[in-house]
Amino acid sequence: MDSRGSPLAKGATRAWVGLGANLGQPQTALRQAVHALAALPGTQVLRTSSLYRSAPVDALGPDYLNAVAEIATTLSPHALLAALQTIEQAAGRERPYRNAPRTLDLDLLLYGTQHIATPDLTVPHPRMFERAFVLRPLAELAPQHVPAQALQAVQGQAMARCQGAGWADGFRVSGGKIGKKWLYRPSNKRK
Ligand code: AMP
Repeated sequence: MDSRGSPLAKGATRAWVGLGANLGQPQTALRQAVHALAALPGTQVLRTSSLYRSAPVDALGPDYLNAVAEIATTLSPHALLAALQTIEQAAGRERPYRNAPRTLDLDLLLYGTQHIATPDLTVPHPRMFERAFVLRPLAELAPQHVPAQALQAVQGQAMARCQGAGWADGFRVSGGKIGKKWLYRPSNKRK
């Protein structure tokens, strides 16, 4: 059991991953990222938030598309971070300068209720409470982790909900509705 009280696979931890993209074909990049998350070893995508459009924060370039995915994973936090970076690189992510436009940005927002402070990984994500494009989709999935004051503090940031949680349905297993949740699982992980 985890903080939400629902059972996960043995040894798995519920985690939330922030997804963003503003170059190329952002929605395709985010869908493919959901698919790639579901293909990670010991990992299931449990739910995705709605899809949001947001203006770049501290950066130039086109608007971003953003969402959050809730996963259950047996990967350690650092193994998960490494996997997220591999997925970013596979999507053509380059880091020419800080806050450069990006084909795909994946952030580990929360890993269960753990607090982690290491040189390469900080959880909860160090900037998530400054960003409406993280907090609003995260609040759909994990309201218990998003204080109302935190949402209020970012309400002036421009963003719009542009599609419901079904935006990633291209990767839904047919008949894969589990309770009230959609389970995303690529074909090579089907039993
Ligand atoms: P960015 O360029 O915004 O994707 O930031 C990536 C850098 O942030 C990498 O060097 C990561 O090691 C570091 N980082 C620290 N904490 C996190 C986190 N929770 N999720 C993703 N990256 C993180």
